[in-house]
Amino acid sequence: MSTANHCSKCSTNVGTCNCAGCKDYFCTKHFITHRKELQTSLEQIIDTPNRLIKQFNENDHSISLKTALLNQIDQWQNEIIQKVHQTADNIRQQVTQVLNSQREETKKKFQELVDELQKRREEDDFVEDDLVRLKNRAHQLQQELEQLQQHSDLGLHIEKSDGVDWAHLIYIESKSTDNKKRKNLQVKSDTSVYYLDIDISVDYLEFDRKIKMSKLR
Ligand SMILES: [Zn+2]
Ligand SMILES: [Zn+2]
Repeated sequence: MSTANHCSKCSTNVGTCNCAGCKDYFCTKHFITHRKELQTSLEQIIDTPNRLIKQFNENDHSISLKTALLNQIDQWQNEIIQKVHQTADNIRQQVTQVLNSQREETKKKFQELVDELQKRREEDDFVEDDLVRLKNRAHQLQQELEQLQQHSDLGLHIEKSDGVDWAHLIYIESKSTDNKKRKNLQVKSDTSVYYLDIDISVDYLEFDRKIKMSKLR
């Protein structure tokens, strides 16, 4: 037994137990102590993630981030809807104005012709040239009236909303400048890197140009 190992703790007892980790030899009593020390170290490590999980659950900042992002989406949606309403209201007003003024203009032209005919009859003031001119004028006005009644000279130019790249107007993207993080955005669970990128302001949609009145001919 001259080659027997001694306990690394007490040096007096024979080291009958060998630790597979640190390779030290221990007597039975000190081997138990050694294992207990290792167990305590493990418990301390386990505490850290447990504490972090507890902290994470108690202070879930993804809830406030979610609320903030959803609010931004609501705001964007409202702005778009408001713009659409505003554009539709404008074009309704334009339609009414244009049709009313067309009607008034034609009415005025008819009245002028009627007035002139009556005046010339009363005053017996007309020759052959006047008759030709007045007849042409009456024919011209008749054509204008027919056109108005067919509503054929005015229409709406409506640009299809398919032409708008809706998916690129608002989307979620990473604030991180780290390219790897940005690429992993879809699978990333750390919501703190997200923010909403409202890429194109509603004003750039130029709603006024999506619908406008135009003369067909
Ligand atoms: Zn010992
Ligand atoms: Zn050991």
